[in-house]
Amino acid sequence: MARAALHALKRLVEYEGRLSVKVRVDPDLCAGCGVCEDLCPALFIVQDGLAKVRVSPVPPDQEQSCREAVKGCPVDAILIEP
Ligand code: SF4
Repeated sequence: MARAALHALKRLVEYEGRLSVKVRVDPDLCAGCGVCEDLCPALFIVQDGLAKVRVSPVPPDQEQSCREAVKGCPVDAILIEP
């Protein structure tokens, strides 16, 4: 039972690892603080007081810093979509 669950979890992780992750900023929530740009400048830029996404889907080598930006956003304005 536990082995089957572990196998299923591994398959899920492998599957999710192949998904391209899309990211966007909710302009109604963004406060323009710049935290996302500081944490992940390859993906985010703040212009005119609003964060913009430079590239989406997220390149695999930027996924970790993108997730850090999501966690760091003080108003939860960064949304990750499968
Ligand atoms: S961290 Fe959040 S609130 Fe701050 S600029 Fe980025 S998206 Fe906007």
